[in-house]
Amino acid sequence: MTQTNRIRLPNNPAPKQWLAADRSSQYIASYKPFNMVDGEGVRCSLYVSGCLFNCPGCYNKVAQNFHYGHPYTQELEDRIIADLSQSYVQGLTLLGGEPFLNTQVCIQLAKRIRREFGHSKDIWSWTGYTWDELMKESADKLELLRYLDILVDGRFLLAQKDLTLQFRGSANQRIIDVPKSLTQKQVVIWDRLRK
Ligand code: SF4
Repeated sequence: MTQTNRIRLPNNPAPKQWLAADRSSQYIASYKPFNMVDGEGVRCSLYVSGCLFNCPGCYNKVAQNFHYGHPYTQELEDRIIADLSQSYVQGLTLLGGEPFLNTQVCIQLAKRIRREFGHSKDIWSWTGYTWDELMKESADKLELLRYLDILVDGRFLLAQKDLTLQFRGSANQRIIDVPKSLTQKQVVIWDRLRK
């Protein structure tokens, strides 16, 4: 057996096999306001807890546990909204863990952002799902997708790891313009992609 054959791959769920309603504990691994690494501009990042993809080399393995961290609270939500109201903050980033297995929290927060800020703040999310997989997924996942501006999709694949890529860890992952992709019914890559 070659070395390549021995490399474990991430899990591959069937459509609707994993549902937030069954899995999420609505826990938060971390909240990082005012950072410049999780997308374009100054951002507030919410790391939700729980992910089932189990990618070898995962950047945040502790957050694969659905009970890691602390419960999402109204107090935290109010703080995120207050932080986002700063004029120099471009938007919110959802990461994890897996945001699409924590749709209860992510949809509630995204809805409030649209209610309070309209589209003056953008919403980015990372996911282990590919765009094509999400198109076959549960209604809550598709609802969350509709609130997003940018989706970085796909598992982290060690064999395609490339630390020079903009905002992603492996070459299979894509930075997707969500509104354009939904309108055109095909993946449209972010037009400010550099590499
Ligand atoms: S999808 Fe992301 S959070 Fe989940 S195991 Fe893979 S790298 Fe880790």
